[in-house]
Amino acid sequence: MEHSTNLEEAPRPSSFDAHNPPSKELLSDCVHCGFCLPACPTYVLWGEEMDSPRGRIYMIAKASQGEAPLDHNFRQHMDNCLGCMACMTACPSGVQYDKLIEDTRPQVERHIPRASADSAFRKFLFAIFPFARRLRLMALPMLVYQRTGLQKVVRASGLLKLVPKRLAMMEALLPTVPNSLFHKLPSFTASVGKGPRVGMLTGCVQQVFFQHVNEATLRVLSAEGYEVVIPPQQSCCGALMMHGGMEEEARSMARKMIAVFEKENVDYIVINAAGCGSTMKEYGHLLREDPVWADRAKIFSAKCRDISEILLMRKSQTPRNPISLRVAYQDACHLRHAQGVYAEPRSLLRDIPKLDLAEIGEANLCCGSAGVYNLLHPQPATELGDRKVENLLAAKAQALISANPGCLLQLQAGLRRRGMEQVPMFHMVELIDASIRGISAEELLQRQI
Ligand code: SF4
Ligand code: SF4
Repeated sequence: MEHSTNLEEAPRPSSFDAHNPPSKELLSDCVHCGFCLPACPTYVLWGEEMDSPRGRIYMIAKASQGEAPLDHNFRQHMDNCLGCMACMTACPSGVQYDKLIEDTRPQVERHIPRASADSAFRKFLFAIFPFARRLRLMALPMLVYQRTGLQKVVRASGLLKLVPKRLAMMEALLPTVPNSLFHKLPSFTASVGKGPRVGMLTGCVQQVFFQHVNEATLRVLSAEGYEVVIPPQQSCCGALMMHGGMEEEARSMARKMIAVFEKENVDYIVINAAGCGSTMKEYGHLLREDPVWADRAKIFSAKCRDISEILLMRKSQTPRNPISLRVAYQDACHLRHAQGVYAEPRSLLRDIPKLDLAEIGEANLCCGSAGVYNLLHPQPATELGDRKVENLLAAKAQALISANPGCLLQLQAGLRRRGMEQVPMFHMVELIDASIRGISAEELLQRQI
């Protein structure tokens, strides 16, 4: 009978709900060529099609057509994705995987319940890490743990092998807690060279554990003639929430961030943490359906610049002093792949006389940090971390450089596993700061500024 044929042909409803589902148009951009497979860290580790970008896009498309359920298997493959965006750099068809995965994750959170232990651990992470004040409070007992020598005892005792892997990873990633935990940077630094007025993001993990990087950033901006505003009301950019599929929380944080910097009337917003930068440049997409904030978000995102981008916008105002050092530079995925910032940090480092910049093998492969991926997926993150450290050490450098706090922590943990924690590590901006201030390589290695 004819009407039964019509029923069979009726399109199935999507497995996604109607709230910002992954775009069918963007899904159709993928031509399944597979060029992205060797760039994908999970495919490199496991060789599984469904843990490759092409496999994930296929699964999302099937769910979008209502031909695959949103179940635990679907969630597993989406969870396994580091969000490193190496697939985007590798893709010749310009597939916007970032938008696809970012729109898929909230659907996963809404429709596929998690086991209670997994859910509790995630809630804990998202209740602490995006809040600098809470991070500081949590860092206080850690300060005692480290300064009393208890950390050394615990690490040597083998006790950490008995605790859940995620907790052990958290301990392994703990950086040296600075003494000046509550130190704040000035909210305004006047320009000495009539440069643009820039707002500086202090970050969450960055401002608590890497204050020295923020201090170096401010010194460099100031030396280069920028007027720097650091609004004390700024909070988290929402990167962790976005990567965790917590869309509403991410949106709310984005709105707050936009409002804070709008008041300051800055020409640019400078970011020295790759993950934060890539998120803030995506506010336009995140708030695209918000009638009040969509345009403001676009304007805000257009002003965001990584520190390496901003420093190359104008001719340098300060001479660079030599640093006789061989360094290996590790690309942060959220800088290289998500923001396309690859040449800029290299160019700035090469401007430092006598600095020997080494390229490393598998430079496009993620180190396994990826926001809180290393805490949620310790096993693959450790394998990727070890692989990255091996590549860095093969460059026979005297120091390792990155431009993201998460990568620095991940590499530090990897070095420690090899008993090589003495290898010095710096944020890229620290080298520029040292060069401007005339700090020699010897001093630099001693100070680890
Ligand atoms: S994402 Fe790009 S590179 Fe990967 S299979 Fe699709 S079209 Fe090819
Ligand atoms: S974002 Fe990274 S881990 Fe995820 S599919 Fe792309 S390359 Fe693979």
